[in-house]
Amino acid sequence: MLKGKTAVVTGSTSGIGLAIARALAGSGANTLINGFGDAAAIEKERAGIEKEFGVKALHSPADMTKPAEVAGMIRLAEAKFGAVDILVNNAGIQHVAPIEEFPIEKWDAIIAINLSAAFHAIRAAVPGMKARKWGRIICTASAHSLVASPFKSAYVTAKHGLTGLTKTVALELATFGVTANCISPGYVWTPLVEKQIPDTMKARNMSAEEVKHDVLLAAQPTKEFVTVEQVASLAVYLCSDSAAQITGTNLSIDGGWTAQ
Ligand code: NAD
Repeated sequence: MLKGKTAVVTGSTSGIGLAIARALAGSGANTLINGFGDAAAIEKERAGIEKEFGVKALHSPADMTKPAEVAGMIRLAEAKFGAVDILVNNAGIQHVAPIEEFPIEKWDAIIAINLSAAFHAIRAAVPGMKARKWGRIICTASAHSLVASPFKSAYVTAKHGLTGLTKTVALELATFGVTANCISPGYVWTPLVEKQIPDTMKARNMSAEEVKHDVLLAAQPTKEFVTVEQVASLAVYLCSDSAAQITGTNLSIDGGWTAQ
């Protein structure tokens, strides 16, 4: 379905991003993965994508807090693959703390990675998409782009901002064959969720099991975590021709969380 297309997926050495990158590669797209981690493990993943799916795969270590590196990642994909047709702004971090104690450097990092990096990547990728009159921009937002939770001020702010950015871009590119949409998962079991358990235990004075069941899954009416594969399938659908008229939306995949 995506044979001959090129995808860039930020924050794709782990979790949701990795699943989206693998699903796009599985649909035939040459794929650039991005993110941090053990160099040997990343190379194994990159080579595995090439071998398993018969596409080209690249890794860019660009740091999403650095605008020049974000633009450089897009340029690298254009140079090596000839184009960037699909851009998935997925990199994200979390920090959980009461507002009056929220570390300023964590606020700055979350706004940079979860929000500003998407602006810088879109800004760099759009000229090529407009010229080719085809493009798919997907931003991994969150249920927290629609509703808030206490102690997550920076994350909720960044994710609400991401939906505004995506809607604006959708309108600007509506006549160029380029769509822009957010996918908003509820709780997906990934390292990002696992890592916030200790801080939530502290902030709410709870055990790990209580955080999992009384805080995380409490919000999700299905009482089940979303899987990374379910999020990746939605991303692949948004890249298909069937989704050509879906633009400027924020699609929830949250077990009913934001229906409440
Ligand atoms: P994860 O921690 O498993 O993966 C995050 C990825 O981002 C990793 O590849 C990491 O290396 C990369 N990354 C972090 N900082 C970076 C930086 N400065 N530059 C480049 N890459 C960087 O997280 P995840 O749960 O897969 O989350 C992915 C996205 O999904 C995030 O935007 C997150 O907010 C969103 N999301 C997650 C959930 C969930 O429950 N897991 C729910 C809703 C939304």
